Amino acid sequence: MNEDLFVKQWMEFENGIRTCTDCPLSANRTNPVIYRGARKAPLMIIGEAPGSEEDEQGLPFVGKSGKLLQNLLNSLGFKVNDYHICNICRCRPPENRRPMPSEIATCKKHLAVEFRLSRPKVILLMGSTAYEAFFGEKPLMRDVRGVFIEKNGFIIMTTYHPAYALRNSQGKIPIYEDVLKVREKLEELNLIEHISGINE
Ligand code: URA
Repeated sequence: MNEDLFVKQWMEFENGIRTCTDCPLSANRTNPVIYRGARKAPLMIIGEAPGSEEDEQGLPFVGKSGKLLQNLLNSLGFKVNDYHICNICRCRPPENRRPMPSEIATCKKHLAVEFRLSRPKVILLMGSTAYEAFFGEKPLMRDVRGVFIEKNGFIIMTTYHPAYALRNSQGKIPIYEDVLKVREKLEELNLIEHISGINE
């Protein structure tokens, strides 16, 4: 796709979210939350829905969970062009409740466009809501995390949501292990630069 067409389609995509009123969550948003990182990236990281900081800033994962995620990405040598971060739902649910199945189903159409434009190869699902939105079943996180699943041409890894590590000090370890596997996979596929010393 040529760059002008890409930018045009990207603007249409963002506009589609900014003007979306297809579910009740849109009524209370300060800002819809679309993405941060690179527009096109080999890795897409998908969370649940914005919290209050994200709603204020219009950017995903910029609150406490986001800082934890960002520290992890930095410590594993990821560069901003390596990833695209977004959520299943683009508007903040009241009191940070989980998005309802109807809200997830309505919001998924935005993600479908984002996949087409952003063209990730590897997807990292953070938490059970993202897993359920993808695979249609409630997971037991300890059973589904840390393994790659291939679906529709994507290589998908699930890990705990960073909020889990804020509640449980041991929680950072499995998330670190899983994101390291993601880094190794991207390196193996030559989709990101190999950094020596991280995993050797
Ligand atoms: N939790 C999420 O799932 N997404 C965010 O953007 C912030 C917190």
